[in-house]
Amino acid sequence: MGLLSLGTPLEWHESSQYSEHVRKNGIEQLLYVFRAANARKEDPLLWGDEVEYMICVIDDARRNAVLAIDDDEVLLELNTEDKGMCDAHNASFHPEYGRFMIEATPAEPYRGFVNQYVEENMAQRRALAEGKLRERGADLLSLAVFPRMGCPGFTDVPQVWSSHNAASRSLYLPDQVINRHARFPTLTANIRTRRGEKVCINVPMYQDEKTPKGDDTVVERDWFTPEDQEAVLASKPGHIYMDGMGFGMGSSCLQLTFQAPNVDKARYLYDSLVNFAPVLLAATAASPAFKGWLADQDVRWDVISASVDDRTPYERSEEPLLPKYNNGHGYTSKAHPQRIPKSRYSAVDLYLGGNPFFDRKYNDTNVPLNESALEKLQTNHLFPMDYDLARHFSHLFIRDPLVVFQERVDQDNQNSTDHFENIQSTNWQTLRFKPPTQAAIPGNNSTPGWRVEFRPMEIHVTDFENAAYSNFLFLIVECLLKFSNEINAYLPMSQVWQNMQTAHRRDAVVLEKFHWKKSFTNEATGEYSFAEIFQNSGFGIFPQFIDRILKHKNIVASSWTDLQNSSDAGQKRLYYYLKLVFDRATGVLPTTANFLREYITHHPSYQKDSRLSSEINYDLLKMMSRITHLDDSKGELSKFLGKEIADFLANRI
Ligand code: ADP
Ligand code: MG
Ligand code: MG
Ligand code: MG
Ligand code: MG
Ligand code: MG
Repeated sequence: MGLLSLGTPLEWHESSQYSEHVRKNGIEQLLYVFRAANARKEDPLLWGDEVEYMICVIDDARRNAVLAIDDDEVLLELNTEDKGMCDAHNASFHPEYGRFMIEATPAEPYRGFVNQYVEENMAQRRALAEGKLRERGADLLSLAVFPRMGCPGFTDVPQVWSSHNAASRSLYLPDQVINRHARFPTLTANIRTRRGEKVCINVPMYQDEKTPKGDDTVVERDWFTPEDQEAVLASKPGHIYMDGMGFGMGSSCLQLTFQAPNVDKARYLYDSLVNFAPVLLAATAASPAFKGWLADQDVRWDVISASVDDRTPYERSEEPLLPKYNNGHGYTSKAHPQRIPKSRYSAVDLYLGGNPFFDRKYNDTNVPLNESALEKLQTNHLFPMDYDLARHFSHLFIRDPLVVFQERVDQDNQNSTDHFENIQSTNWQTLRFKPPTQAAIPGNNSTPGWRVEFRPMEIHVTDFENAAYSNFLFLIVECLLKFSNEINAYLPMSQVWQNMQTAHRRDAVVLEKFHWKKSFTNEATGEYSFAEIFQNSGFGIFPQFIDRILKHKNIVASSWTDLQNSSDAGQKRLYYYLKLVFDRATGVLPTTANFLREYITHHPSYQKDSRLSSEINYDLLKMMSRITHLDDSKGELSKFLGKEIADFLANRI
């Protein structure tokens, strides 16, 4: 997301009057894009990452660590008075949902394999933001989840509840955690209003000796009727209960966007990465605690999914919590509402097809479509789309636009993609197929072409880890594009959805099996452990993708492990990137989630009750801050990344 344009975001009852207008014109804009850019070819493999950070205040005098919600000026400054400095370091900073969040990307995308430059660029971004925050007494951490978000006193503003939180109406999150730009509180309020209830998130609680029967922070309040009565009905025994968009959209991830040479290869790349998404979600697990409780799951994904779930009770096929209020059904402007099995933030729904390995039978799940969009996309004078691609977009277009800006209701469909992007960018799936704009005619290389975004991975605290996962995925992408005539990565979508659930389980990496290809040259699939998925010679990621592309590039003779003895500093570093991914995926090293859970349960003040006190939280964040800065003075880095990697990073080998 770039800098936000100014304008007046409409509240739901006004905004929803334009829903059909936005969909209709959005489809037309998309058709103009295809007409302009369909024949584009041979675009280079440009790519880039997005890293999300949290601004924290770690107060050593009080031994307390909180989220900082009044330092967002820093983001403004980075985009204005510091812009020249940022450009000079190829760094770009973006707003995010949380007022305590900053997103950073390279200003110019990487071109092909750039290896350690990814980490160098990430380090420069971190240094730029961190330098400014330090002057203000704040810290920057790339944490997936702030473990005590929503607990009493979790921010640095003492009077944070002096105003009522009309946007989210959460019992736990004041509206001051939301980005100040009017789009974000409006988005929050519109999701809640459309749904007809507050969003509802129940995460299984980690069960320890003295864990209570349920979340004892569930209370009634009397600020908002009926929302303040929902918690008791919505919360489930044995679960952590959360009720605000910020619990999900206030968590952080690592996203990667890749440009494909042409539209067909972009579709192939998208389809081929579909099942890498749940596997790499589990492999990067870093979220063992929410709202001051240890969770019995390791990742943030379904928390975000529920945190922006705008479906009405009818669409969800559920009874409303309080039928006497909330209209009984939420508020959609649709004349004929559909049943919708999944949140608009969820795993990919449909393969895009368009290559010889694809078969429609792989799209074997229940995915509702916008039938009139489906028809229009296939039958029009601008660009008649094939059925499979039309089906993908017509699924995205079952959703209402969440926020319409008054000033942008009327647009020129030949030159704007605003209405299309309104629907597209609020369909938050594990992958995003990113079309270009109408300016992307063949030969106009000043504007991006067809891209695929990989979105499931959790963020890590060190630049080293984030660069490792980025380079790992880059090599997989390069391999897929290079051998696109040979690699058949399809498996039934229903199996991918199952993998997505499996990926949430505690220690899935070592305890669970995932659906995976038995062979990448035919249809066969099986259920395998991570050890097999990563290292089996016939279908494992390292032999089949990493070794294959490294050999093709003449970087190694037989295996990635050859890199260890390379005299080239970059290649040696690549060895440690790959080793980190490999060792975590095969259980040699803990995932971040496992490491944090172990830390919490072994903390001297832990009461075996699944609670994360502010004292534990402080010690935990202190430790993560040391690890962020590769400080191994207490041996934590060695424990976290293994001695060999820690020694390498601390220049001991
Ligand atoms: P969004 O939030 O919509 O996903 P961002 O602009 O935050 O988009 O991030 C997009 C990423 O894509 C950045 O890392 C950027 O460097 C990268 N990028 C920019 N142009 C291209 C391109 N032509 N091809 C691939 N990646 C690109
Ligand atoms: Mg972004
Ligand atoms: Mg974004
Ligand atoms: Mg401050
Ligand atoms: Mg982001
Ligand atoms: Mg993104």
